[in-house]
Amino acid sequence: DQVIPDALHVIDTQCPFCSVQCKMQVIEKKDITNGRPVYSVVPKPNLASEGRLCIKGMKAYQHVLTGERLLHPMVKRNGQFERISWAEAYELIVNKFGALRQTYGNHTVGLYGGGSLTNESAYVLGKFARVALQTKYIDYNGRFCMSAAASAGVKVFGIDRGLTNPLSDIELADCILLAGTNIAECQPTLMPYFTRAKEKGAVIIAIDPRETGTTRIADIHLRVRPGMDATLANGILKVLLEEGLVDEQFVERRTTGFAELKAHLDELDMGEIAQLTGVSAELIRKAALSYGKANTGMVFTARGVEQQTDGHMAVRNFLNLVLLTGKIGKPGCGYGAVTGQGNGQGGREHGQKADQLPGYRLIENPEDRAYIANVWGIDPSELPGKGVSAYEMMEKVHEQEIRALFVMGSNPLVSNPNANFVEEGLKKLDFLVVADFLISETAQLADLLLPVTAYLENAGTLTNLEGRVLLREQGRPAPGETKHDWQVLCELAEKLGRGQFFSFGDVEAVFNELRLASRGGTADYYGITYDRLRQDEGVYWPCPEVAHPGVKRLFDASFPLPAGKALFTTVENHLPKEQVSAEFPLYLTTGRVLTHYLTGVQTRKSPSLAAREVESFMEIHPKTAKKYCIEDATLVKLTSKRGDIYVRSRFSDAIREDTVFVPMHWGDTQNVNKLTNDALDPTCKMPGFKVCAVGVSPLVTE
Ligand code: SF4
Repeated sequence: DQVIPDALHVIDTQCPFCSVQCKMQVIEKKDITNGRPVYSVVPKPNLASEGRLCIKGMKAYQHVLTGERLLHPMVKRNGQFERISWAEAYELIVNKFGALRQTYGNHTVGLYGGGSLTNESAYVLGKFARVALQTKYIDYNGRFCMSAAASAGVKVFGIDRGLTNPLSDIELADCILLAGTNIAECQPTLMPYFTRAKEKGAVIIAIDPRETGTTRIADIHLRVRPGMDATLANGILKVLLEEGLVDEQFVERRTTGFAELKAHLDELDMGEIAQLTGVSAELIRKAALSYGKANTGMVFTARGVEQQTDGHMAVRNFLNLVLLTGKIGKPGCGYGAVTGQGNGQGGREHGQKADQLPGYRLIENPEDRAYIANVWGIDPSELPGKGVSAYEMMEKVHEQEIRALFVMGSNPLVSNPNANFVEEGLKKLDFLVVADFLISETAQLADLLLPVTAYLENAGTLTNLEGRVLLREQGRPAPGETKHDWQVLCELAEKLGRGQFFSFGDVEAVFNELRLASRGGTADYYGITYDRLRQDEGVYWPCPEVAHPGVKRLFDASFPLPAGKALFTTVENHLPKEQVSAEFPLYLTTGRVLTHYLTGVQTRKSPSLAAREVESFMEIHPKTAKKYCIEDATLVKLTSKRGDIYVRSRFSDAIREDTVFVPMHWGDTQNVNKLTNDALDPTCKMPGFKVCAVGVSPLVTE
């Protein structure tokens, strides 16, 4: 730590945005000309980011200090928000929820959380749903982020942890396969891990319909047709098998299901795979030989593979690659799901998901229910059952099975697919409460707004993409009348007559109960304490005892599945659920840009970040644009079966001619999710964000 002259205040914190959770210092000084505070940011060395910060982290103080913060509880009267006290806000919630629960039952209230909440707030939110409101309806926006990789990891390996290895293993890999991940824009500080591997001779293979900052470092770029990733993986697997690039000893000792996979792959035709995926058989072969012949190798997937209506099976097919070649459980060998949200990993471990209790325990498993009920001091019969996924909750809202919704740290109006349908549903609600620190598009529809603290103003733990738990201390006092998320829930539980279950004195007390609730579960935090986190640079889970070092590299000896064996999967070639047609002749794919995060609520409030991308856009190949009479940098109308949006064209030959790309960070008429497909993956309930059919036309104005 350095002494910074003239600094009024130095805040040790970490970036609130992506899953790397880069450590940094925010420095407040006084401007000598006008005496006002000015801010600067310096990165702090740490094991994950190695002392780097990307532009999002450098400017992440701006949205916290904006004059547009929500600082007081506000109620909507005659279409306008009016300031009220916390006591009035709580009374309103108790009365509204009470009346609705009395008429329609407990499940009339739904809760919708977020993957950027701290572990402690996510834990209390899950407990609040089950204990204070006794509703089964709780889910969160991580359903759109990690559910495919999570469900695939559990099925194939027996555990869902983003990376099976520490980040430091990346440069030990001789071949790296990056499937549907744009690390250069989404987790920029990770890029040097990959460039260092390349400098040491690693072959990098990228799978993406677009050329991006990530694919540009690749030796082999497979420009796959959107939605065809699982089929492409079949092609790679088939080459590995035909060329004998199989680790037979590993397959024999540590896996099951190989015979079925082999029989299935033998039947597939490479010509058909090439035609379906839009990638030549030669290029598929080149990629397969590079990965198969490498002594060490890692496979990464992200939303490009996962946000599909077959996302679960698509990820499992990429995990087949890892198992077939025995490239797991050793230095430089493993798999990583590159989490997007800041606490995408921890956010899914502590009970925000419809089907899960803390520690990845299952809400339908009697033993798991009994364990958690005991920790919470209730009878297992009081615990509600399994609810539904995030988008299915929007359907329940539409059907008015859910009549009151409590949203915390999320913007479902912009992040759900088929946003017009979602908006109709939200407008039908009898009572919508939003707890946030900025007024999102969803908050604008709310009946009641609850002001909460932002990352610089609260403390708690977050778990990065490696499964490493990090402590973020409070850096500034809570502004205005804001309260911490977990604190709001505990106070509200008290007003609802369930305060005895939520008597946490501080955030560390929440964490200590979370540790107990996770004990013996898959994501075991029991051995992790605030004291340890203050001394170490984070601790990996599972960590069952305080003296335990935590597990950096998983699966070195066995998998937590029957007989300790991982499971191969047979995945059929198939097309995406929505196909192009004469009316909708182009594929639409969505994603992120460097300077924005999720639905843009925070980054659009940061002048420096917003200035880099002030509005949404449609990336289109110039040849395709010509076909549809579209000029560069002009407004266009994009239409799907579900709605229209209006964005500016951006010519690029970095995209396939049959595909257009629109980022996901804007709402209203630029909300790309007005177009996206709300069909869900049957296993993990991930919507098909990454491919739908659209038409495009110039916007003609009088
Ligand atoms: Fe680090 Fe991610 Fe924040 Fe960039 S957005 S500074 S990579 S945590």
